[in-house]
Amino acid sequence: MIKHEIKINFQEYASVKELDTIDQDLCAEAVKAMKNSHSPYSKFRVGAALLLKSGKIIHGSNQENVAYPSGLCAERVALFYWGANHPDDPIVSMAVTAHTDEFELHKPVTSCGSCLQVLAECEQMQSQKVKVILFVGQGPVWVTNGIESFLPFLFFEDRLS
Ligand SMILES: [Zn+2]
Repeated sequence: MIKHEIKINFQEYASVKELDTIDQDLCAEAVKAMKNSHSPYSKFRVGAALLLKSGKIIHGSNQENVAYPSGLCAERVALFYWGANHPDDPIVSMAVTAHTDEFELHKPVTSCGSCLQVLAECEQMQSQKVKVILFVGQGPVWVTNGIESFLPFLFFEDRLS
């Protein structure tokens, strides 16, 4: 038997104000994106903003539906929009935030497994890692460089692509 250990790395900042200007601006875009969240069922609003190499910003927000499985997370709304419209303009970074009036969020909300898997394929498509910035309100900010920090055992098979 061989015992393996996987370590992941991420940086924590006390608040968005500690980030550099470019990242702070992207966080502000994620807050703007959250305003178009359609979340009457969960009342949990999520906003995602992508910064592309050209400087273009893409917004995504969670879009729910009365037929629950038909909804989609903010991250995948943004990432699929990118794939459909700007696949040749690499994603540099993605900021994600969330808010609900139902309770207070004290730490960043991490992306679901499906969004991480999609992000992994976006990184593969553009042959470049995506910096991910997760934050809520006044709470701490978590920053990673690339999908591997979140999902070390992501599904990936070269022969299928
Ligand atoms: Zn998700």
